[in-house]
Amino acid sequence: MPNLSIVIPLYNEEKNLSKLNDTLLQVLKNISISWEIIFVNDGSSDKTLKMVEDLASRNSSIKVISLTRNFGHQAALMAGLDNTTADAVITMDGDLQDPPELIPELINKWEEGFLVVYARRKNYRNDHFLKRWLSMLFYFIVKSLKMSTAPKNVGDFRLIDRRVLEELKYMRERTRYLRGMISWLGFKSSFVDYNRPDRENGKAGYSFNQLIRLALDGFFSFSRLPLRIGLFLGVISILIGLGFMVYMIADILINDVYYHLYKFLVDVIFIFMGFLFILIWILGEYIGRIYHEVKGRNLYIIHKKINLDD
Ligand code: UDP
Ligand code: MG
Repeated sequence: MPNLSIVIPLYNEEKNLSKLNDTLLQVLKNISISWEIIFVNDGSSDKTLKMVEDLASRNSSIKVISLTRNFGHQAALMAGLDNTTADAVITMDGDLQDPPELIPELINKWEEGFLVVYARRKNYRNDHFLKRWLSMLFYFIVKSLKMSTAPKNVGDFRLIDRRVLEELKYMRERTRYLRGMISWLGFKSSFVDYNRPDRENGKAGYSFNQLIRLALDGFFSFSRLPLRIGLFLGVISILIGLGFMVYMIADILINDVYYHLYKFLVDVIFIFMGFLFILIWILGEYIGRIYHEVKGRNLYIIHKKINLDD
């Protein structure tokens, strides 16, 4: 049983793979604990699968899980995590944006007793400005509303101990936002800082829509705040409606003004709309969640495993 497992999801990474593998092997040569690499091929349409099969056939410490189709980064990560028995697992991207050179530092922190060690980027990502802004907005909202305790500027490059992994495996929720889930577990954690380089080859596998969805997953699976927004809006409109009602009645009683009946009707409707919006929002939120759980789909379906027992 290896002490350290490195899980790397791959989606069309043929151009980065050999350099990644070389750097990894170079780094791993110098560490004192036993290791394995688990490549998870997330339904790549290029030569990625062929290349990792090749690497695995030459080195039995390199293992491969290939999914039937593209299930997405988070599911691919989970497929890797489910199939390791190591004492510690490092998850990292396969596009060399997570430098393998950091691995020994992550291990050092683990040996010091931290159960979760995050690699935290010092620079801001050199992405499209819109993506960068949205990312900043996301963290700003999350932080200012205390929605999730996930640390800032960390991605999925981290080391987790076996104990964390066992707890994580127990969480089979369908909407997965691993960063949030791991920090939610609350184990003792530490950071290693680094400068995140740009993606060298190939294009980012995350489409804009997927990123938005990940952000929304991050919001909705970790907070009941949206419910409170509905409540807030509803209460505000009810208060405004009541305010007008009081004003009109006072105006009639004190100044002897005449108000048309329709003004009262509009005001009453306004008040009741407030209640309705609150209810519809709450129901929708619950129905969405129930729907999601009820589907109970597999998180992923393994196409084949190499160098792994069945
Ligand atoms: N990835 C994956 N499935 C996907 C999209 C991406 O397994 O559907 C992998 C990809 O090969 C890379 C990692 O997830 O190893 C991070 O992807 P990407 O570089 O696109 O994300 P970013 O760096 O933009 O956050
Ligand atoms: Mg990347």
